[in-house]
Amino acid sequence: MKAYIMDKDRILRIADISAPLKKADNILVTVRAASICGTDMRTFLKGNVKIDVPRVLGHEFAGDIVHVGDDLKEYGFDIGDRVTAAPAIGCGECYYCKKGYSNMCNDLETIGFQYDGVFASVVEIPKKAVKNGNLIHLPESISYDDATLIEPAACAWNGQTYLQIHEGDTVLIYGSGMIGCIHAELAYRKGASRVVIVEPVEKRGKIAMEKVPGIVWINPFTQNTVEEVEKLTKGKGADVVITATSVPSVHEEAQKVAAKRGRISLFGGIPGDGKGYLDSNLIHYKELQVFGVHATTPGYMKEIMKMMEDGELDAKKYIEKIVALDDVERGFFSIRDDNTMKVVIHP
Ligand SMILES: [Zn+2]
Ligand SMILES: [Zn+2]
Repeated sequence: MKAYIMDKDRILRIADISAPLKKADNILVTVRAASICGTDMRTFLKGNVKIDVPRVLGHEFAGDIVHVGDDLKEYGFDIGDRVTAAPAIGCGECYYCKKGYSNMCNDLETIGFQYDGVFASVVEIPKKAVKNGNLIHLPESISYDDATLIEPAACAWNGQTYLQIHEGDTVLIYGSGMIGCIHAELAYRKGASRVVIVEPVEKRGKIAMEKVPGIVWINPFTQNTVEEVEKLTKGKGADVVITATSVPSVHEEAQKVAAKRGRISLFGGIPGDGKGYLDSNLIHYKELQVFGVHATTPGYMKEIMKMMEDGELDAKKYIEKIVALDDVERGFFSIRDDNTMKVVIHP
């Protein structure tokens, strides 16, 4: 089968590889739609040492089951079922897995990193993933394309669980990509009265205002973010700050722009060792709360699916390009060069 891989020399390319075998302890899924994530983009531009090579890339997908192994008959999956999956697979045994935080498992293995990914016609779902609830039935009302956005939205949803967004809060988000916009939508859903997005690329700021009506856009190239937020909040600062970008300096600014008792989510991973951005005294005296977040869980994905089913979250508006697997690199370039929000691949 055709797949987009990182080969043993860590070069990304389309390759002809053997399709995964039908086994007693796996489920095979025909990939109907996959999408390019920020993580994939970083891998495309800068490589990724966390990927065991050779490896099929990609982890956001939806498709149809074409094989259910004999050992997995008890889990309620049949040939033809429409499914998606939470790509971060826990061991199922450790403290974190048992508490439902499988994304924090000490032995976390991820589709597209330790298991072959979804930029291929077929993906293998290992027994461990099925047993731990990572494979999820997709309701008829959610299309394959839309379903590829469940995982990234569920990462945002996980991040917001820490932030106690209340009625009347001002929420400031750095970055207006799909993730920034989803964060904005989820914040409104929790009652935020004002959502402000900081975005230096004019085109992207304008698109974000179209996608999420009501948001305020600050351009940090032409405006002073801290002063603008002070003006908007009558000197108080933002109740909640979310960094949905990999620009490290925003971690510092987040602490300045936050109100006293503000909550900060360091959502976007940053390059380098990540040291040197936190101001302990500022956190101490302003009683700031700073939260990390990593990946998501099947539970959060189901909550996002429910929002999509109920029409509270419209994934489709973020999908701006659909490409065939052969053209996957065109998808990457269009994200980099044309600010395309979400690219979906049809393998
Ligand atoms: Zn992702
Ligand atoms: Zn575990």
